[in-house]
Amino acid sequence: MLTTNKAAQLIQKQRIFFQKDTTKSVDFRMRQLKILQSELKANQEEIVKALQQDLNKPAFESIASEVAYGIEEIKYTLKHLKSWAKPTKASTLLTQLPASSQVMAEPLGVVLIIGPWNYPFQLMIAPLIGAIAAGNCAILKPSELAPATAKIVSQIIEKCFISDYITVVEGDKDTTQELLAQKFDHIFFTGGTKIGQIIMEAAAKQLTPVTLELGGKSPCIVEPDIHLDYTARRIAWGKFINAGQTCIAPDYLLVHRQIKQPLLDKIKDYISEFYGENPAESPDYCRIINHHHWQRLQALIDPDKVIIGGDCQEDERYIAPTVMDNVTWEDAVMEDEIFGPILPIVEYSDLNEAIAQVNGQPKPLALYLFSKDKQKQNRVLQATSSGGVCLNDTIMHIASPTLPFGGVGQSGMGAYHGKASFDTFSHYKSVLNRSFLFDLKLRYPPYDGKLKFLNWLFR
Ligand code: NAD
Repeated sequence: MLTTNKAAQLIQKQRIFFQKDTTKSVDFRMRQLKILQSELKANQEEIVKALQQDLNKPAFESIASEVAYGIEEIKYTLKHLKSWAKPTKASTLLTQLPASSQVMAEPLGVVLIIGPWNYPFQLMIAPLIGAIAAGNCAILKPSELAPATAKIVSQIIEKCFISDYITVVEGDKDTTQELLAQKFDHIFFTGGTKIGQIIMEAAAKQLTPVTLELGGKSPCIVEPDIHLDYTARRIAWGKFINAGQTCIAPDYLLVHRQIKQPLLDKIKDYISEFYGENPAESPDYCRIINHHHWQRLQALIDPDKVIIGGDCQEDERYIAPTVMDNVTWEDAVMEDEIFGPILPIVEYSDLNEAIAQVNGQPKPLALYLFSKDKQKQNRVLQATSSGGVCLNDTIMHIASPTLPFGGVGQSGMGAYHGKASFDTFSHYKSVLNRSFLFDLKLRYPPYDGKLKFLNWLFR
């Protein structure tokens, strides 16, 4: 258990290390990123094993969405870091001449990164890449609900870095609370909206800035003008990967009534194609993280509305890929983010109706629209607000380092990935450098007789 003293000591040691200015060198940062990259590659097998233990995550998904993601993000960062870290020139006002102006990125200091359990490896490593790139020291707090992954994160970090620079603190929410009572220079939190509020409240006491990567109910609108086969396949994949425990999983479908039945038939086919007739036996289907979440999800299933799946086995923490039809906003499944393999279907007959339903809810982390029609695409883009949008696919927008990833409103604040990660962990310092060449006396008292000139200048 982390005591208040121990937490304070850890941070103090990192502050001392930070003040040595070692992390200010871009070469140093690049060397650290390369060390991390090679340890990610070297430990792939162990990481896959840990994820299998925590979530029954298939090796393919672990490599693609957790390990390779980190390796690619480091590659991209290494390619661009020198240019990101370079001060940028800014123009100088005539009234300030002779002078030069620039904006320079500086690291924030000692940062805290708190992670969730659903992509427990990637969601620790991806923000860490940004923190290192920007020149910070960091304390990582992985989720206690994915203990095997927390252990491997801890082992890898210990191998790569001295703890005065980067370290992992394992533990439950009390440990997080101890850390939160300390002063950090930034807190990067990924998790649910309710805990996000606790984090922000604690950070406010220390006036610590936060990035909150939260969740929410991400809608998926389906119009009739689609490629039916690809739409069904992309929705089924995005919903049931990681057994629906994905922050940007399509939470519910808003389907135009003209296309509903053919779409549901195809989704059914794809669930069978992906996971077989009995998904409980599929090596490619995850389990629910723990009994608490299994019970929470099972209670959301209304047997009268189930049209696909519905099978739940508590000892296995298994919930079949489940689709519920004729769902309304009065159903329990529509109250909160589902975060599990249950797909509610809400029918509509006019796109404006679908947009109104989306806008009646808090701003989601992701919004999906399936339609070939450019006008409809633009209409939805302009009429709704969400952290990100993916047109005619699900999940894929998260993978691009050129697209900042983050929420808006209740789904979060701030963003990361690629340059956005560097920005999140940097302070952009403005510098005006004045010359000693001459010094106009206009701005100095006594002001007698100068007002006329000032009025002329700002006429
Ligand atoms: P969570 O909010 O329960 O927990 C996340 C972290 O907060 C854990 O490390 C935990 O130890 C800590 N924590 C829990 N209770 C706490 C408390 N009372 N005080 C202080 N710290 C506490 O989130 P979760 O259940 O691990 O993850 C699921 C949520 O995360 C979903 O809502 C999902 O949408 C969201 N999520 C968002 C993203 C994103 O990138 N935006 C990614 C993954 C998950």
